[in-house]
Amino acid sequence: MKKKISILGSTGSIGRQALEVVDRMPDNFEIYALAAAHNIELISEQIRKYNPEVVSMDDKDAALALEKEFPGLTVLCGNDGLVEIAQNAINDIVLVSVTGLNGLFPTLAAINSNVDVALANKETLVAAGDIVNERLKKSKAKLLPVDSEHSAIHQCIKDISMVRKLLITASGGPFRDKSLEDMKNASVEQTLNHPKWHMGNKITVDSATLMNKGLEVIEAHHLFGVDYDDIEVVIHPQSVIHSAVEYNDGSVIAQMGIPSMHIPIQYALTYPERSEGIKTDSFDFYKIGQLTFEKPDFKKFRCLELAYHSGKEGGTNPVVLNAANEVAVYAYLEKKIPLYRIWEIVEDALSKHKTLRNPSLADIIEVDKNTRDYVKSLIKQDKRFEPANM
Ligand code: MG
Repeated sequence: MKKKISILGSTGSIGRQALEVVDRMPDNFEIYALAAAHNIELISEQIRKYNPEVVSMDDKDAALALEKEFPGLTVLCGNDGLVEIAQNAINDIVLVSVTGLNGLFPTLAAINSNVDVALANKETLVAAGDIVNERLKKSKAKLLPVDSEHSAIHQCIKDISMVRKLLITASGGPFRDKSLEDMKNASVEQTLNHPKWHMGNKITVDSATLMNKGLEVIEAHHLFGVDYDDIEVVIHPQSVIHSAVEYNDGSVIAQMGIPSMHIPIQYALTYPERSEGIKTDSFDFYKIGQLTFEKPDFKKFRCLELAYHSGKEGGTNPVVLNAANEVAVYAYLEKKIPLYRIWEIVEDALSKHKTLRNPSLADIIEVDKNTRDYVKSLIKQDKRFEPANM
């Protein structure tokens, strides 16, 4: 029996790699639906190759163009399109690899329909982890993490009740060896020069500031139900240990491998089985030589500290953290602000925020929007960093 899968975000980095996994295992998977934002050339190619029943585009004009090009294909549009695809119980699994808060609604829709979710969207658990967990309790659906760290922890945990601590590894990014002073005013080019992983620009900036790791800590808290004080970030420049779990007897189980996003994607899609559809080279301890570890410097990586802080505060604080960071990172990528303004802005937004406890979905959306508006106005007022002065 082929697994029917839908890939939301099929033209992005994770979506394309997921389709490469499908390519290697044509007898295991059948594509029910694909969804993308606006990349009409690539999705047209994918439609011809994978012959999905349904396609959704975020962009309305792109949807209309596809309807013309592919008569007979059901073409949907926007967030509603993502939800309509995800809630169809015909799916065995839905890969949610769209970016932003948009990932939340199809994730909840799939869970409500008892459809498993392979989650590659950070905002879902950061902003609404409690709501997702409540829905999961009432559902038969499984939530399978795609991110390499959470996939590693998932692979290391047999019984969560015996777990003492989660150890989330981080490569340390391009500023691991640099001083705070050097890092503060780093150029966009320096920041995007990530030593280990090739990813989109937004997540690459987040990896340089360790905000990405901070968001992963919040996700791990929700995914595995572990207290923030029992989640430790370990800098591990070789990126060979993808994360680890410490048990109550002190034993540590780590998941290792040659860095490749294909493997955690494939693990989520084929779970509970492992597959040799895509495989890395054999693991060579001698070639790797040594594994090293460092404590993160919370003064330098202020974003990591702020993420822990907002996670522990809970309520709508992680919504603010995520929204403020996203707007600031895009402003940095557009060279409107220097790098250090990212954490200053996030801290500012968090300090101004009045926490809502047990927020509803509507609260979350409103706080997200208000934070974005606030940060945009903040950046506009920020006279010192007019683009002309950069
Ligand atoms: Mg990661």
